[in-house]
Amino acid sequence: MPQSPGHATQPIVSRHVAVIGAGAAGLVTARELRREGHSVVVFERGDQVGGLWVYTPNVESDQIGLDPTRTTVHSSVYHSLRTNLPRDSMGFSDYPFVAKDDPDRDPRLFPGHREVMMYLQDFAREFGIDELVRLETEVVRVRFVEEEEKWKIKSKQRHKEMDEIFDAVVVCNGHYTQPLVSHVPGINKWSGKQMHSHNYRDPKPFQDQVVVLIGNSASAFDISRDLVGVAKEVHIAARTVKCETFGKQPAYDNLWLHPMIKNVCEDGSVHFQDGSFVIANIIIHCTGYKYHFPFLETNGFVIVDDNRVGPLYKHIFPPALAPWLSFVGIPFQVITFPMFELQSKWIAGVLSNRITLPSQEEMMEDVKALYSSLEASGTPKRETHALDDKQVKYNNWLADQCGCPAYEDWRMEMYYATIKGRLANLESYRDEWETQHLVLQAYDFIKPASNQVSDGCVFP
Ligand code: FAD
Repeated sequence: MPQSPGHATQPIVSRHVAVIGAGAAGLVTARELRREGHSVVVFERGDQVGGLWVYTPNVESDQIGLDPTRTTVHSSVYHSLRTNLPRDSMGFSDYPFVAKDDPDRDPRLFPGHREVMMYLQDFAREFGIDELVRLETEVVRVRFVEEEEKWKIKSKQRHKEMDEIFDAVVVCNGHYTQPLVSHVPGINKWSGKQMHSHNYRDPKPFQDQVVVLIGNSASAFDISRDLVGVAKEVHIAARTVKCETFGKQPAYDNLWLHPMIKNVCEDGSVHFQDGSFVIANIIIHCTGYKYHFPFLETNGFVIVDDNRVGPLYKHIFPPALAPWLSFVGIPFQVITFPMFELQSKWIAGVLSNRITLPSQEEMMEDVKALYSSLEASGTPKRETHALDDKQVKYNNWLADQCGCPAYEDWRMEMYYATIKGRLANLESYRDEWETQHLVLQAYDFIKPASNQVSDGCVFP
């Protein structure tokens, strides 16, 4: 394996870097790598940049996502989707996600998905990232060539395959595409239809149907509210219920909340753990996603085990392959875009030798310490990358490594205010935002930042 960059006294170098994916993570990674002086190629299998925010009405041929040979669709975005965080909190540090004075744009504080896609496409244009992106080019194989100490990438553009060599690879392929499906006893004999929320687009096909949704995530909530105006009955089966109570939901004639499904039967019945049951037409699994890197060959240096991607130092570098392989966007329960920005600044600085990584052994020790602390606190493996309250510490650590200002307090205040608003009023928290002072605080930050768009970070 190549050596890690060693000490910051080493000369600053430019690397040839492949970025896989042109969603929010890939776009900001490309910008940070280029700012640092690296040459960058971004591979994107879609026909435009923006990642999962590029809505498509298309769905997969196997709607439950189990058949590995199915035709796949990247985006999980449904037609009615609005952000679940205020737009200002989501923006990159030096490219604010503010409302535009343009009738074609969505000015809401929690805008629809198209507005987020347009923000990302504006960002790519503003920073000249478009010219680095190869659209409709899928990476099919990534492997480390020991003799050359380089990465070989095989990509496919329509029917043309190409092999290329890179010094480093940054994986930004997103992790909301490969459905995770819950096991439902009796499902093989059940007479109804099943699908995963990945393939839900709009309520029309559910006219007069009895629908059971599994899960208590934002998607289950949004989709159930989408369906109530069209479906005959909507039933949610949830493991944890923080702010609602089981039974018929107030303000709806046809929405019920149940404990988890016990089993389903051939006659179409769905039995819940409290003994109640319904005869249903369809089950929608709103049960999340799996990390999936079908193109990546690392000889076992990176594996996915119960949705833990590892070992990864700081959720980014596999110690044995650092800094030549890295991942942006692995943590969840976070404010995503600004975290992607800090992760990619760190990767860019490490690759150029400006920032030093610890030794491989020290990185492994750090990963082991994380695993031990998770185990001690009873956190399941699949929650390894859930940061939530830990994100400020994590982001500040990254900012410190990069010599950037500390993570902005107002973002987290918006994050917590949104959670509080959601708990108090799930139905309308997006339209009844009561903490306008936080938006004003964000604007105070955004105004000076937007005057220096091309220089978001003070290097040491
Ligand atoms: P993606 O946006 O998924 O981009 C990955 C890109 O990689 C895609 O363009 C894909 O085509 C490409 N790609 C994949 N494999 C290959 C390959 N082999 N070769 C070439 N290209 C490839 N976050 C928020 O901050 N606010 C929200 O309100 C919010 N709402 C969400 C709602 C839903 C339903 C979901 C699923 C997620 C939501 N998120 C939200 C989280 C969201 O995932 C992030 O905001 C962010 O957009 C993820 O960006 P990404 O670049 O990591 O991945």
